[in-house]
Amino acid sequence: MLDADFFRRWLAAAATAVDREADRLTELDSAIGDADHGSNLRRGFAAVTDALAEGDTATPGAVLTLAGRQLISKVGGASGPLYGTLLRTTGKALGDAPEVTREQLADALRAGVDAVAKLGGAAPGDKTMLDALVPAVDALGTSFDAAREAAGKGAEATTPLQARKGRASYLGERSIGHQDPGATSSALLVAALAQTAE
Ligand code: ADP
Ligand code: MG
Ligand code: MG
Repeated sequence: MLDADFFRRWLAAAATAVDREADRLTELDSAIGDADHGSNLRRGFAAVTDALAEGDTATPGAVLTLAGRQLISKVGGASGPLYGTLLRTTGKALGDAPEVTREQLADALRAGVDAVAKLGGAAPGDKTMLDALVPAVDALGTSFDAAREAAGKGAEATTPLQARKGRASYLGERSIGHQDPGATSSALLVAALAQTAE
């Protein structure tokens, strides 16, 4: 069973991974965006870390909801509201259960991913974070490791795609041949989840 502490450790691992990979994320965003994805997420996850250290989060739902609110309010770029909505909606779907199963987390994340798709108007294949998140949530029904692998493959599979949403879509065909920064950071977040479950 996954308790509030598990979710705090996941977000701490995510913050560490984002910090470590920030330069790479920004480099990917410099090819097809505005070169701020790494710094956007670094700022957002630093705020998440601070808020979790100060706030009272007794349940998995409370941890994710608090983290989501931080990302929405502290990140200026598109990824802040989108990742914030992912975590907030997932947290709300978990309700006030003190512990949840992997299957329950997969169902709640599905609601979160659906909310991201609705907010951003994107679908898999549009070269966005959804290209990593959707296969990861599908695979999470099987195992944490399967989710990590699916997210990584999904992120890599964005390279040959033409972006249809977000800033990269302004480039048209010139967005082809570069891995999507948001799909790459999504794979990092899913890898942090799998690492926490090890
Ligand atoms: P911005 O583009 O505002 O500078 P970021 O650089 O932080 O924001 O994030 C860019 C990432 O956000 C993209 O690589 C993509 O994965 C994701 N993204 C952008 N627009 C959308 C959307 N409409 N739906 C889903 N994801 C999106
Ligand atoms: Mg950007
Ligand atoms: Mg920006």
